[in-house]
Amino acid sequence: MTPIRVGIAGAGIAGLTTALSLARRGIASTVIERTAQLSEVGAGLQISPNAGRILEGLGLGDALDRAAVFPEAIDMRSGRTGEPIVSLPLGEHARAAFGAPYRLLHRADLQSLLLEAVEADPRIELKLGVEARAVTQTPDGVTLSLDNGELGFDAMIAADGVRSRLKPAVAGASPPRPSGRTAWRTTIPVGIAPRDLPHERTTVLLSRAAHVVIYPVRSARLINIIIVIEEPWDNDDWSAPGDAAVLRQRFDSDSTRYISRLTGLDLQWTRWCLTEVVPTGAWVDDRIALIGDAAHAMLPFLAQGAAMAIEDADVLARELANAPVAEALQRYQALRRPRVNRVWKTARQAGQIYHLGGAMAVARDMTMTALGGQRLLGRYDWIYGWKP
Ligand SMILES: Cc1cc2nc3c(=O)[nH]c(=O)nc-3n(C[C@H](O)[C@H](O)[C@H](O)COP(=O)(O)OP(=O)(O)OC[C@H]3O[C@@H](n4cnc5c(N)ncnc54)[C@H](O)[C@@H]3O)c2cc1C
Repeated sequence: MTPIRVGIAGAGIAGLTTALSLARRGIASTVIERTAQLSEVGAGLQISPNAGRILEGLGLGDALDRAAVFPEAIDMRSGRTGEPIVSLPLGEHARAAFGAPYRLLHRADLQSLLLEAVEADPRIELKLGVEARAVTQTPDGVTLSLDNGELGFDAMIAADGVRSRLKPAVAGASPPRPSGRTAWRTTIPVGIAPRDLPHERTTVLLSRAAHVVIYPVRSARLINIIIVIEEPWDNDDWSAPGDAAVLRQRFDSDSTRYISRLTGLDLQWTRWCLTEVVPTGAWVDDRIALIGDAAHAMLPFLAQGAAMAIEDADVLARELANAPVAEALQRYQALRRPRVNRVWKTARQAGQIYHLGGAMAVARDMTMTALGGQRLLGRYDWIYGWKP
């Protein structure tokens, strides 16, 4: 096949992984990123085996392992008492069952190792501090308008996140919509975290209309805390400051007394509006494709948003290596959509289950305990065990 050149807008997890996946198949690309310096905002990221396996295939396994913490389990606990409800075994179990470990990383560490690999690959050109404004189809390619000129490519991949600027070029694409929930995030040194909080595990505290996810990053020196609450708000700033007094007020009742031990600490919180993109809209228009959050931003309750972006990148690169551009992009959409739809819906359902209150919460806890961690984890085999 004639060599093609691919434009990628956005150097987030989707954009960088796409560039690397293409390069490994001999396809050159140019990545356009609007920020001048890539400093990944946010704190922790859980990289499940389905995504980790793909990154390992890109030769990043050792770098990932150096940066990761390997949790022994995901513990679900009561937000009122901290009492265990059920524990999903990870550690060696995940490695044996899914062929790759479950990893916890600092976002900045994942971003850095992807960036290092991109910079080392001569087939990838990275343009930082350049904004993609619009993309149009031409008879034999696409033209990307930038804030400082234009570039031509054979295909354009919009990896420009949940509020994608290039999305209008894809007829029938879903717009972003606020979910009515916000994620409050902070990290704390391990020394000031409550002593009875296990540091080598992911802990999920459940309570009515809110849940908390806690896990270690950076060789378990830092604890990453995310509190998701139901709160109508629409904003596109990843790092809007959050007023700790609001959290204290939310968690001041007996039903949240364990969580209040965290919200009572003197911490700096940032607040992020959880925005969704319904995955059933179009992702592809001829030579232009949406990928990652631009195509299907999901609630983070299964920790699968970045994982789906990584899977997208792998499938898209494989198709572009094997078929003419327009056909390859259609195949990418057809192959990815059923899986992403299912993950997207399951993440929403997880949120509803996590946020139950009263008798429904009691029934949920009893069911989870009766099922046991291994069987509960088995319900996610189809996510973690996925192979391209
Ligand atoms: C609280 C929270 C916790 C999460 N936890 C997990 C988890 O544990 N595991 C997991 O798998 N997922 C998780 N996710 C989801 C994950 O963060 C996202 O799915 C993932 O970051 C999406 O990557 P992306 O590259 O598609 O988009 P982004 O990360 O948004 O990257 C888009 C990039 O495009 C650039 N850009 C935007 N517009 C332009 C433009 N016009 N021109 C040029 N560049 C542009 C941006 O600067 C940015 O660098 C979580 C999300 C949240 C909110």
